[in-house]
Amino acid sequence: MRPQDIRYCPSCATPVVIREKIGQPRPVCPACNWIYFQDPKVAAAALIVENGKILLVRRVNEPHRGLWTLPAGFINGGEDPAQAAIRETREETGLTVRITALLDIYARREHARGADFVIFYQAEIESGTPHPADDADALDWFSLDALPLLAFDATRYIIEKFKSMRSIVISKEPRSGD
Ligand SMILES: [Zn+2]
Repeated sequence: MRPQDIRYCPSCATPVVIREKIGQPRPVCPACNWIYFQDPKVAAAALIVENGKILLVRRVNEPHRGLWTLPAGFINGGEDPAQAAIRETREETGLTVRITALLDIYARREHARGADFVIFYQAEIESGTPHPADDADALDWFSLDALPLLAFDATRYIIEKFKSMRSIVISKEPRSGD
């Protein structure tokens, strides 16, 4: 929640006041000294590529209903981000995956209901038959060169980064004749 939306102390229900605390004005409870810190919202996502194609899900909810993105969702308090990526992938695709790499962290909130940070993992399918569920009403494999309309800047960013990483790997292979 935004600081201006905090009206009552969640501990003792006293109306809060705004006071300078730890470097900036924050909602503070004048009765029990509770301080509101606006914590970032963090999401985790799984990038799964098989046979040169990427697994995307179609969003059933706003924002960007009907557009495509990676299996992803908010990390619960106390949850391991990698486990959150695995859980969200299972919820949205029915697939059990294992994490193979940390790809990047995208740090910009692009929507009021979005995340401040998205932690992107690469993952491989361990088991399961893909079927869309939860936040997704369709899923499909797409060639990296023929993507559908993507839902978020963060999705576009990580796919472009992944493509450039792959091209680096390819360019490292010895040329014939070397
Ligand atoms: Zn209080």
